[in-house]
Amino acid sequence: MAILGAPAPAIFLDRDGVINRSPGPGYVTRWEEFAFLPGSLTAIQALTHAGWPLFIISNQRGAAQGLYTRAALDEITAAMVAEIARMGGAIAGVLYCLHDDADRCGCRKPARGLIDQACRMRPVDLTRSYVIGDDLKDIVLGRAVGCRTILVLSGRTAADAVKQWPVAPDRICRDLEDAASWILAP
Ligand SMILES: [Mg+2]
Ligand SMILES: [Zn+2]
Repeated sequence: MAILGAPAPAIFLDRDGVINRSPGPGYVTRWEEFAFLPGSLTAIQALTHAGWPLFIISNQRGAAQGLYTRAALDEITAAMVAEIARMGGAIAGVLYCLHDDADRCGCRKPARGLIDQACRMRPVDLTRSYVIGDDLKDIVLGRAVGCRTILVLSGRTAADAVKQWPVAPDRICRDLEDAASWILAP
């Protein structure tokens, strides 16, 4: 039986390039531009079904740059979470950094602020948790907070590029579906 309030493992998912198609160097500015990657919804459903709390942590500097408003981002988030729920998944929290580098905030990945925010929403055992992302900054963050890290190749990183990185992910997966299968493997 789970002890109420005891730290439990969680999964921290990057958004663009993991859940939805990466907008390249740009940003998703409205729901019409948001496209779920193949298998991501069923992966989220499977992880939810297995009892994993899922947090989405995403840099959205485009807000600081005025490319979209906070209200527009909230609309995208609501539509995304609704579609995830319709497919049987659940999200414990969606946390965004809306700052630009010049703001020197503590939440723009690879800074750890978004994960700290999630840990204030519910106690998380970071050593048994995962960070899943498509970018070096996700892997750097995961390592810094003591999580296991999974790089997915469904976004902005090609497999070859990883060899040049200063840190290696614990695992490289094709996409979120592949990552979920690996996490859930007996
Ligand atoms: Mg990404
Ligand atoms: Zn920030």
